[in-house]
Amino acid sequence: MEHHSPRNRSTFTGASRTPIAITPTAKPKARPADDKLQFGTVFTDHMFVLDYAEGKGWHDPRIVPYQPFSLDPATAVLHYAQAVFDGLKAFRGGDGTVRLFRPDKHVERLNKSCERLCIPRLDPALVLDSFHALVGIDEAWVPRKRGTALYLRPTVIASEAFLGVRPAKSYVYFLILSPVGPYYAEGMNPVKILATDKYVRAVKGGVGAAKTAGNYAASIYAAEEAKKLGYTQVLWLDGVHHKYLDEVGTMNIMVKLGDEVVTPPLEGSILAGVTRDSILALLRGWGLKVSERQVSIDEVLAAARGGTLAEMWGTGTAAVVSPVGELGYKDERIVINGGKTGPLTQKLYDTIVAIQYGDTNDAHGWTVPLRAFAPAS
Ligand SMILES: *Cc1c(COP(=O)(O)O)cnc(C)c1O
Repeated sequence: MEHHSPRNRSTFTGASRTPIAITPTAKPKARPADDKLQFGTVFTDHMFVLDYAEGKGWHDPRIVPYQPFSLDPATAVLHYAQAVFDGLKAFRGGDGTVRLFRPDKHVERLNKSCERLCIPRLDPALVLDSFHALVGIDEAWVPRKRGTALYLRPTVIASEAFLGVRPAKSYVYFLILSPVGPYYAEGMNPVKILATDKYVRAVKGGVGAAKTAGNYAASIYAAEEAKKLGYTQVLWLDGVHHKYLDEVGTMNIMVKLGDEVVTPPLEGSILAGVTRDSILALLRGWGLKVSERQVSIDEVLAAARGGTLAEMWGTGTAAVVSPVGELGYKDERIVINGGKTGPLTQKLYDTIVAIQYGDTNDAHGWTVPLRAFAPAS
């Protein structure tokens, strides 16, 4: 990327002690009104960029005006998908304070994804600095309306221009920000999901546990087919037996069978969701019976027939929890909790949201207030 004129340049030095060069935009964009926000359609004024070169390591951290990349058509990521990303949110509370939700967990996961894709590890302190510095410089973009947030998308791509399958010798880490609207504009909306026995998302030993680009490309076909049948999302079953629940769309899945909450274990084929982890901690704190174990589609269907399938929901950063109102499998379509949001699903949603916006005591220490942004010239 080109270097900009040194006029107006300043630096930000955070906990990593690595100075971040800042080139402010000369043309701030118009910001959309809070009640017009959607998901992932609008981006803020600046972006963070960090380069990697073999022999030199990660270098040149900088914040520059949001702009396109210029990539050689042979750039490795465009051909072989050596790419990882993560996704987290910053929330503005009623007191005006901006808080990041579990940023350290997301950085840890980003590095795990990097490792699986043979991408050199990032300095976690510098990645956290990138969150604070970029959200700090674009703080006016953090929306105020309840339910809205600023979504952070840290991403790493192989940037070397070469054709061939091996780890690239150069990478770019970048961070972009997008103000997003409430996932539920008018209350929670239960989704209809289709358990597919035809397609698989991941197998143990594959890359299902990494947040890597190829997983999503591989999921689109099945998702489109499910949509044609009237479903919102695909419920992925395990890749070997086509029997055990894995995850749903881009969310982890949980099911309440009688008084037991069951969610698939982290054994290599599903993503270790930060929301999943938060919800399990809440449930355990409330003294509920929680099991991280395999649960088969047959067990879920048998529970539905026996009247013990109480609630089912997906968990993820975008929606927090997404109630499942209907589950399809082969010729069956079962309605869960009358197609309505269950009481535990609602309580989990309300509790996490209250923590995210600073309405309630954050006993787990999950939220991190945005550090004061004071660039030095
Ligand atoms: C991002 C993602 C999740 C949810 O993770 P969170 O950290 O809770 O946002 C679950 N499954 C997949 C496949 C994902 O990509």
